[in-house]
Amino acid sequence: EAKAAGRNTLRFYDPQMQAAVAARVQLEADMRAGLATGQFELYYQPKVAHGKIQGAEALLRWRHPERGFVPPSEFIPLAEECGLILQLGQWVLHAACEQLARWAAEERLAGLTVAVNVSPRQFHEGGFVAQVLEALASTGADARRLRLELTEGMLLQDVEDTIAKMVQLRGYGVGFSLDDFGTGYSSLAYLKRLPLHELKIDQGFVRDVLTDPNDAAIARTIVALGTSLGLQVTAEGVETEAQREFLERHGCHVWQGYLLAPPLPRERFEALVHEHGTAQ
Ligand code: C2E
Ligand code: MG
Ligand code: MG
Ligand code: MG
Repeated sequence: EAKAAGRNTLRFYDPQMQAAVAARVQLEADMRAGLATGQFELYYQPKVAHGKIQGAEALLRWRHPERGFVPPSEFIPLAEECGLILQLGQWVLHAACEQLARWAAEERLAGLTVAVNVSPRQFHEGGFVAQVLEALASTGADARRLRLELTEGMLLQDVEDTIAKMVQLRGYGVGFSLDDFGTGYSSLAYLKRLPLHELKIDQGFVRDVLTDPNDAAIARTIVALGTSLGLQVTAEGVETEAQREFLERHGCHVWQGYLLAPPLPRERFEALVHEHGTAQ
């Protein structure tokens, strides 16, 4: 007993753990400062439908003054925990809608859609519907060109509340995608009830789709499921022509991935669209 307490006490003063806690606190403070001083920006990854660029997924980038780019996988979970995701998410929505409105005014970019990733806490707290409507209204963006990407886990947190929010935004024309599909715990019964436009096959299934028969079976099943529910099915993380060809052969005609382009700064994304043309 005493020994255990001793160990715990020792663990508490473990300098490595203390350093980790300090690093988190520092990163949190840096995020707040970064949001106030314009260190965040959106990159845009093209999404290809039937050979043409249909739109972009907006992906958040943080250019830290000392550390350079910090990956979303590092700061998004922290922002979720400390609550800063509410402000960060609002910033992303506003920036994405602003971009959407600017593209709508340019002939060759007017047909593009923009997809925004939404985090669970952002969706369930802090007046999410009002936040989206405010971003649309203040920028003049067309709701029908905005897609919100949700993940499976967050939909199950409070199904009735989730459906109510989705239905309300759908009423304005906003579309919904289920991101990373196949990695969570979606119930097929809910899938039928949710007003979705799109399923995104998680890149974890796409990666080895040519060599792992299980991944191939899962990818094909998601395509069949989504298609028969009347949804667009999009493959994420397509890196090779062979992967694209396999997916195409099995009925998946929409994809994103390094095969065409990684997430790009706005100007480079626009140049790519001018080169390839849009889907409309
Ligand atoms: P996600 O929404 O599933 O985004 C796809 C991720 O896969 C992106 O990573 C993208 O850069 C990467 N990717 C795209 N094509 C390929 C490919 O061909 N191969 C490989 N290996 N990777 C590819 P990123 O930008 O690091 O974002 C990671 C995650 O962070 C996102 O996953 C999303 O969950 C989250 N995230 C990014 N931006 C935001 C945001 O604005 N808000 C919220 N809440 N989450 C965000
Ligand atoms: Mg996404
Ligand atoms: Mg994804
Ligand atoms: Mg992901």
